[in-house]
Amino acid sequence: MIKLWVKSEYGWHKGCFESRHGLNTAYTAGMIFQLTEDRKCKREEIGTVLCAHGISVTPQRLEIAAIMLETKRHLSADQVLLRLAAAETTVSKATVYNTLGLFAECGLVREVTVDSTKVFYDSNTTEHHHFYNVDDGTLADFPSDVAVLNQLPAAPEGTKTARVDIVIRVHNEQ
Ligand SMILES: [Zn+2]
Repeated sequence: MIKLWVKSEYGWHKGCFESRHGLNTAYTAGMIFQLTEDRKCKREEIGTVLCAHGISVTPQRLEIAAIMLETKRHLSADQVLLRLAAAETTVSKATVYNTLGLFAECGLVREVTVDSTKVFYDSNTTEHHHFYNVDDGTLADFPSDVAVLNQLPAAPEGTKTARVDIVIRVHNEQ
């Protein structure tokens, strides 16, 4: 059984799907899936999760998805490479970068850009913002509803605001 957060026109719901058939049926109905917070993604379910996001399964994608979906986390492409190496899995750097880019494009993970040299992939794709610790280079989440933005500038003509990402830089006290 797969427990997922399901987004429908009525908002987010925690749902359970007994089979891949049920998962795919719900996916084609236009819902969006998010692994529940209280649950780690089992290896045998990762292929199903990839399919649900329209990502065709390859052994390398399964390995990279397993690292990202093990828990809610923020990892750079280089950190994913290090974890693959630690598990003695050989995946080229180019494949890791391309795969994480594809995962982000398909909504499996979220890309968080701190600056042009620091890009992280976040397995928590729900709406939230980040603290970035400049001393240790880590990201921490904070909920989007604690930051109230009521003076957003009007979007340029012919466009509308898609999303607001806040990264607050912090450093350690002493
Ligand atoms: Zn995050």
